Amino acid sequence: MQFDTLIINGKIVDGTGKSAFKADVGILNQKIAAIGSLKSSEAKKVINAENLIVSPGFIDMHTHSDISLINDPYGESKAHQGVTTEVTGNCSYSPFPCGKMGPKGLHKELWEKCAVADDPNTNWTWNTLDEWANTIENNGVSINIAPQLGYAALQVASGANEDRRATYSELKEMKYLATEAIEQGAFSISTGLSVPPSAYASTEEVVEICKALSHYEGVFYATHAREGAGRHLSKIIEAVDIGKKANISVQFSHLAITDWRYYGEGPKMHELFDKAVQEGLDITYDMYPYTAAGAGLDQMIPLWAQSGGLDEYMARLKDVEMREKIREEVSKGIGGLAPLWQKVIMSSAKNDKNKGLIGMSIEDISKKRKIDPAETVLQLVEEEKGAVPVTVHNRVESDIRGFMDHPLAMFGSDGNAVSPEGFYKSGQPHPRFYGTYPRILGRYVREKPSVLSLEDAVYKMTAFPAKRLGMKNRGQIKKDYIADITIFDPKVVIDNATFEDPHQLPSGIPFVFVAGVIIIDNGKHSRKKPGKVLRRGT
Ligand SMILES: [Zn+2]
Repeated sequence: MQFDTLIINGKIVDGTGKSAFKADVGILNQKIAAIGSLKSSEAKKVINAENLIVSPGFIDMHTHSDISLINDPYGESKAHQGVTTEVTGNCSYSPFPCGKMGPKGLHKELWEKCAVADDPNTNWTWNTLDEWANTIENNGVSINIAPQLGYAALQVASGANEDRRATYSELKEMKYLATEAIEQGAFSISTGLSVPPSAYASTEEVVEICKALSHYEGVFYATHAREGAGRHLSKIIEAVDIGKKANISVQFSHLAITDWRYYGEGPKMHELFDKAVQEGLDITYDMYPYTAAGAGLDQMIPLWAQSGGLDEYMARLKDVEMREKIREEVSKGIGGLAPLWQKVIMSSAKNDKNKGLIGMSIEDISKKRKIDPAETVLQLVEEEKGAVPVTVHNRVESDIRGFMDHPLAMFGSDGNAVSPEGFYKSGQPHPRFYGTYPRILGRYVREKPSVLSLEDAVYKMTAFPAKRLGMKNRGQIKKDYIADITIFDPKVVIDNATFEDPHQLPSGIPFVFVAGVIIIDNGKHSRKKPGKVLRRGT
């Protein structure tokens, strides 16, 4: 047999958790065609993986690359990490369905306000998942995308983005649009129960929507839960409750403890997960290996102030009395993230006049402007029209290690696929955009004391998320599986991105394949675009 590519002398970590073994891998027609002793076979390209690990491509369970991969189809920050599939549509934000708002309306009312810092000049032309996917595939993309449907998009598309219960007809419309996206192949539905408008949804409303979808094979419910002071246990209880009542599997997003008063309570949270599993719920979670979160300043603004869309939100800030009320609630941290202003760092700006503030804390900006920090938050929100991405240093290392080392844990960067050029160059994104996977392999697997074995870590990056997504032929080094493959050096693999200097590619990941096509070749991006928008059940 003549292979397209032959990878020889490598050590295979196949994704299942099984011990590493030496073997060659032959790739033909996008697939893994053979595993074994293949040195005598012919191939158009031979890669010598001596001293390297050959693993399935990493599946990033939690990203917001829905739009960045249109603006930047190469997605260098993820491709160089060995990520071959981005799961998008998290935290309630998907770029479809647009419903009666149309694409421009959804863009303005949802996406421009959320904290993902995408280019405001992106041309939104699609209405549905299928149309968005066509836009991406016509443009070409280096890595795969596994799309999820966002709850907030449903709300905006059906006019239910106010701080109140959705009406009967709005609910009907939401179910109709949700069903359409799931039938077009969305893997799941996601909520963001501490960010508006998703936060306006009651537990019962989410249950009702999930019930309308749970009969679709493999569909699950992903949740950025109702975070906030003192909610580290109640947020899990609500997710479990929704899963049980709607009879749907649950993916709990970016598990962490962000309130210093509850650091160390990971075991209590794990008890809730373990109990739910014992009671028959299929629940798993994802997490990322950093002591800081990425968020938006909108998470410091009371929910009531953001009701009804961008224009109403901005009008409330112009009203003298309301502004004072909002300012007071922000200064006390009522209903939002705790106001630790020196730990909240501005990470991106759309408004040119604010680009110089990137990297500064809210406290520093407030001193510079000679106003109090809460007023600073309001000014920035106005100047940036709602979307102010920030990095918040609010976690401890011991909790992270505890969350990583649990059988229900997999990984999700919560970062975007971007490149250090064009629109994304000026931002100071969270280093997780560039470093999550090599950081785990370097700092939590190789360095001592280690948290995970290499085989366990790769499992949590590959076959485990593939199982959650119901993928039938990805996530393992296995014959006839799609050849999404990452080759790394376990002795040197490491992240280089820092909070101060985040646009840094990692080291030690020389080769990455998507569907048998090389996208990282000897550490260089090949500029090839073999990626696809994947669909549930395939
Ligand atoms: Zn989130």
